[in-house]
Amino acid sequence: MPTLKFAVLAGDYIGPEVMTEALRVLDHVGRLESLTLQPLAADVGGAGIDNHGKALPESTLQTCEQCDAILFGSVGGPKWEKLPPKDQPERAALLPLRKHFTLFANIRPGLLYRELTAASPIKTERIPDGIDIVCIRELTGGLYFGKPKETTVLADGDVQAVDTMTYRKSEIERIAATAVAAARSRKKRLCSIDKANVLETSVLWRRTVADYVARHAPDIELSHMYVDNAAMQLVRSPNQFDVFVTENLFGDILSDEMAVICGSLGMLSSASIGAGRNSLGLPFGLYEPAGGTAPDIAGKGVANPCAQILSTALMLRYSYGLERAAARIEAAVRKAVTGGTRTADIAFGGASVGTRAMADAVIAAL
Ligand code: NAD
Repeated sequence: MPTLKFAVLAGDYIGPEVMTEALRVLDHVGRLESLTLQPLAADVGGAGIDNHGKALPESTLQTCEQCDAILFGSVGGPKWEKLPPKDQPERAALLPLRKHFTLFANIRPGLLYRELTAASPIKTERIPDGIDIVCIRELTGGLYFGKPKETTVLADGDVQAVDTMTYRKSEIERIAATAVAAARSRKKRLCSIDKANVLETSVLWRRTVADYVARHAPDIELSHMYVDNAAMQLVRSPNQFDVFVTENLFGDILSDEMAVICGSLGMLSSASIGAGRNSLGLPFGLYEPAGGTAPDIAGKGVANPCAQILSTALMLRYSYGLERAAARIEAAVRKAVTGGTRTADIAFGGASVGTRAMADAVIAAL
């Protein structure tokens, strides 16, 4: 009976509300699949600041290091907004966690069920079967981390700011490998998105992805697209993509565009996969909903727990290799939602249920 030892960092506002329900669902799947769960809870974000004086307390980092994966909620909110930017929960907790565990690949399924197409700003006739695509974003390179990164006063008194976009071939190769693996598990179609008509980093990106696929994945149908065109194509006809892979800044923007066209943030999960291997020899990863702490609805028991529940499925798949258990959770969420149990964010003004009842419906569907 495999033991699943994972850190539970629920965070702030709706974070603990949806995490509680996700753990109930996971517990149920654990019983059905004969898995032993060993969740280790620790404070992060605002809870870390309030209880330990730091968004990512040492004790929390130590807990994560003992585990094979991190199940993350979300952090931040009005209570800590007055802190200096460097101490803000998101920046002081998530970025160091990504860096510490070299979480270089962000995998975001863009999934909209046919029954929920009304939640998308795209006309239903353009997405009659909903949306089912995957965005893979490089997470630790590019413009956000390149040096120099500074603001200087020039000799003539003007002020100049510089950010630097850098990519190494090895960084591109490892994200290409992640993208190929994702494409293989789906329709074997991969689109690499860059700006190779203007940027040096994109020229290297395009050449490296093409070489990687030619050498290691001739079974994958690879295409390339400029990022400005991709931003348009994503709203014009999202399902022309199956899996797309792109660098950090482009991925930041395109993944949010994808979240919007998929309707509610309450349904979208994500996985950040690390370079390191866990005790099972599988990728260490951090799994979290795509949305934030939703302070506007926190404490009311109405947040949609599905994104957090679907994050547990990604954890089972990538960090534990438990594909059947992961698919079981995904099928149960689909069944509950398409069967008519909906939280307010996906009810379109119709009857809605609260956080707990939504999770109950998923458990019943299991
Ligand atoms: P948000 O994602 O928290 O909320 C945006 C909108 O989506 C809100 O109307 C909210 O009610 C709704 N929403 C989000 N998740 C939902 C769910 N599960 N069910 C139903 N509705 C849901 O974004 P925001 O309001 O810009 O940010 C709020 C706080 O969250 C900020 O402090 C921000 O910094 C933080 N944040 C954290 C993360 C993270 O921890 N990874 C990500 C984004 C934002």
